[in-house]
Amino acid sequence: MFPPVELPLPPGAGGVARPSGEAGGVTPIAWAGFVGAVSYTFDDANSSQIQNYAALQALGVRMTFYLQTNKSEASSSTWADALADGHELGNHTKSHAMTDDGSDTDAATQFIETTFGVTPLTMAAPYGADGYKAVASTRFLINRGVNNSLIKPDNSDPFSLPCYIPPEGATADTFKGQIDTARSGGGWRVVLVHGFTGGSDSAYQPVALEEFVASVEYAKSLGDLWIDSVLNVGAYWLGHKAFASATTEAEPDGGTKYTWTLPDHFPSGRVLRVTASGGTLTQGGRELTWNELGFYEVSLDDRSLTVVP
Ligand SMILES: [Zn+2]
Repeated sequence: MFPPVELPLPPGAGGVARPSGEAGGVTPIAWAGFVGAVSYTFDDANSSQIQNYAALQALGVRMTFYLQTNKSEASSSTWADALADGHELGNHTKSHAMTDDGSDTDAATQFIETTFGVTPLTMAAPYGADGYKAVASTRFLINRGVNNSLIKPDNSDPFSLPCYIPPEGATADTFKGQIDTARSGGGWRVVLVHGFTGGSDSAYQPVALEEFVASVEYAKSLGDLWIDSVLNVGAYWLGHKAFASATTEAEPDGGTKYTWTLPDHFPSGRVLRVTASGGTLTQGGRELTWNELGFYEVSLDDRSLTVVP
């Protein structure tokens, strides 16, 4: 299991008063309170990712590595380090074929389980091939495709998650436009890099390490973007969607009960940040605490929330 993660705190001076209006009006807060989100993903277990892992780790943001498991590089102890450092290991199939009946994808999951002791919850379809949508939908929370668009709280197919692939030799400035629109559009941008120039492998459209590093430093410097793995942002995104379609029922004491369902393969221990018009929010008899940055944290595992006057 991937362990639950504490969500980073969004920017803000605090001092936001607890809502004191009419009980109810519980509303999810997009991207954990950040203006937008960015995830950096790496495919194919290329050697230049391994060679430059220390520089990636030094950036201090969690990333996602999609392993192609029939390559010798997939056995590198670097991936165990990455997992221990909080990064996500995902499934990029064993053989990187254009089509699969599911067995090649399952073989990669088994390899990752046996070698690194974790069950991957997201995959990246080789070539973004459409056939993997069906494979992924019964096995994973998310499947990343390769077509680019900005992911919003209420759009996109989790089994064909969009991403941006920078052109070969992209500079930090090339990435900047993508990062900026995540911010201006209030969305989630997923970035896919295959490897770095100067490596011994033949990574698709490699970029210079220093340009990539500069682009991540730029995204960090903005201060209001949530930069995290596909699993961490994706579980929040899907939790938001789940709550947005919650059913509500009136309680005898004048309260309102919200009930939701979570998608298959949803990780445990995840929270959704919400605000409300007023009232006291409880889950399983436990009163939720107001955070003066402007939110309550709802346990998604509970699958219900009650608001009483
Ligand atoms: Zn690939």
